Amino acid sequence: MDVLPAITSQTAEELKIRFQEWNQPGYRLSQLLDWLYVQRVTDWDAMSNLPRALREKLRTNYSLYPIVLLRKQGARDTTQKFLWRLTDHSLVESVLIPANPALYGEPSDRHTLCVSTQVGCAYGCKFCASGLVGLKRNLGVEEIVEQVLAIERDASKKESSVEGGRAERDMSDSFSSSQNLNVDTRALNSRLISNLVIMGMGEPLANYDNLMKALAILNAPWGGRIGARKITISTSGLVPQIRKLAEEPLQFRLAISLHGATDEVRNKIMPVNRKFPLRELTAACEFYAQKRGRKITFEYILIGGVNDGLEQVKPLALLARRLDAKVNLIPYNQVEGLRWKRPDPHQQESFFLALQKEKVNVTLRREKGHDIDAACGQLRLRTEKELSHLQAPQ
Ligand code: SF4
Repeated sequence: MDVLPAITSQTAEELKIRFQEWNQPGYRLSQLLDWLYVQRVTDWDAMSNLPRALREKLRTNYSLYPIVLLRKQGARDTTQKFLWRLTDHSLVESVLIPANPALYGEPSDRHTLCVSTQVGCAYGCKFCASGLVGLKRNLGVEEIVEQVLAIERDASKKESSVEGGRAERDMSDSFSSSQNLNVDTRALNSRLISNLVIMGMGEPLANYDNLMKALAILNAPWGGRIGARKITISTSGLVPQIRKLAEEPLQFRLAISLHGATDEVRNKIMPVNRKFPLRELTAACEFYAQKRGRKITFEYILIGGVNDGLEQVKPLALLARRLDAKVNLIPYNQVEGLRWKRPDPHQQESFFLALQKEKVNVTLRREKGHDIDAACGQLRLRTEKELSHLQAPQ
């Protein structure tokens, strides 16, 4: 049997052509998009203002709701980790991070979602849980889009149960008579996720086409409505794709997972550096920064005894100043089964202060997910291990 394309993998333009072939009036498409991206329903029959015949056509041509929440963990500061099961039973993770740690137990109103783009990863960075198991496959467009929709769906359900259903009622009549694809401001105000970082499991730029289409959907005024400038794409250093990204029409932010300021250190922990050494990576970053006129961020995971020595400070400062890049220092989250260690707070602070002294725009992240296996891939690995124990023959 043929697998149906997921409806959330389709752009409004593609669906418009379909609806024209089906002789549907234009407003039906607005109604459909409202059900998908504002009300985020998971059942064709919930689309009550669409005629039954159209719902049947949609059901027989598209699939709906491709990911299932398997496990959710929340940290004390309300960082939350979601483990999804995909239709082929693969597992991927997303991490929801409040903009500011919640104060006095009250939830923060702005959130960044860290999204996965692949099941596993082929790039084998030595410190990373996702790289341990290799690449299983790329995520489809809808599997990337759904990480955002599913979390907002979950949050709006809670909101409606807390507020006696007010939120759902507010949204139930929105858009229903709309003739075009205008933005629904009430839905916009009720958004939980304001920023995306494409930094979860997988190397995002290795799944380039699916990622670009998913981000176009998540950015569109008829879709996810997340501004391109609020979307940061991270890469371990795929030079050709960085150059390609510089030519994209949408103005995404770029973050480089640098983790070493010399080829010697990067070669030790990031095999990708042997293919694209720092000289090539820096040139591609310069090209991106010039084309886009915007700053790049260097992510730098501080790993004890590997890249936290003060001899890395000068070359890192040189790179950062040359590209006018910001440096984010992230103390390593230890991964079970790996030998790497988090530097002690004193070493973290010395590295941070030395960079400041070099006039680098630098932050030291107090890791918000430290107590929930926040390093990418850890929850998935642990759950796979537990499931294999459960399934192992006695
Ligand atoms: S750090 Fe990123 S690129 Fe490297 S192995 Fe992990 S997921 Fe892949």
